[in-house]
Amino acid sequence: MGSSGKNIVAPSSFVAAAFAVLLVVASAAGCTEVADRQDGGKIVVAVTIPPEQEFVERVGGDHVQTLLLVPPGADPHTYELPPGVLADVAEAEIYAIVGSGIEFELAWKDRITALNRDMLVVNCSRGIDLITTGERDHPRTDPHIWLSPRNAKIMVENICQGLMEVDPENADEYRRNADVYQEELDLLDSEIAEALAESGVEKIMVYHSSWAYFARDYGLIEIAIENEGKEPSPRDLERLIAQAKKENIKVIFASPEYSTRSAEVIADEIGGTVVLVSPLAKDYLVNMRNVAAAFARSGSS
Ligand SMILES: [Zn+2]
Repeated sequence: MGSSGKNIVAPSSFVAAAFAVLLVVASAAGCTEVADRQDGGKIVVAVTIPPEQEFVERVGGDHVQTLLLVPPGADPHTYELPPGVLADVAEAEIYAIVGSGIEFELAWKDRITALNRDMLVVNCSRGIDLITTGERDHPRTDPHIWLSPRNAKIMVENICQGLMEVDPENADEYRRNADVYQEELDLLDSEIAEALAESGVEKIMVYHSSWAYFARDYGLIEIAIENEGKEPSPRDLERLIAQAKKENIKVIFASPEYSTRSAEVIADEIGGTVVLVSPLAKDYLVNMRNVAAAFARSGSS
């Protein structure tokens, strides 16, 4: 293009002039959008839990700013928004809900969306095969969908669709970013499958039952210490200790968000150890690799 430029002086200056007009139009359009958006034009996306922050940031890049509702270390099964936060949340253009029945969203989603009728609610669970738990007369869905990389791919897809809807100008970029991250999730998935298959681990004993989707994907059985979200009774503990001995379980998994006391009691009784794994860490890819490695090691001890 450089060498042919001087032979077509008139047309190229015409093109340049037309392009300049286009630029003015484009930047004017950009300005109104900037004025509409908080924080220098970024799309504010409210999310419930930290792993969704990584999903949104990887797809949205520089165009998004996440607003995390359940802060690090807090429990999304019980967390209450502090007074005054609702007004900030109302500024979000998108609320990416996990959508799988987690208690925080059951309690707060309607109050959040009522404040801003223009807010797009992206249901990250759309298209995911939910696991039903609980008693037969009180069925509920297991909300921990994000702890399966295969589900995470679907969540990322839903987030990508939402961003493209709100900001069609940058749709191609969102698509590319989502493709790259989804490939990384595919790689994570195959690495975890391989690591767990090699380890021979079959059962994991965990304090808080959050790994059912993970267990379903990788053929594990999750044994939970908590009983319907409550501390185990002394009888529960006796049963779990007997089971751990019978199954030759040596590692009890607890998480930084919850008490480790009953995990320690069981570990003491079986001569095992307590290992912490987080179901809620923001650095999703790194965390999931670490968790899978910890599960795999527990199988070879
Ligand atoms: Zn949980």
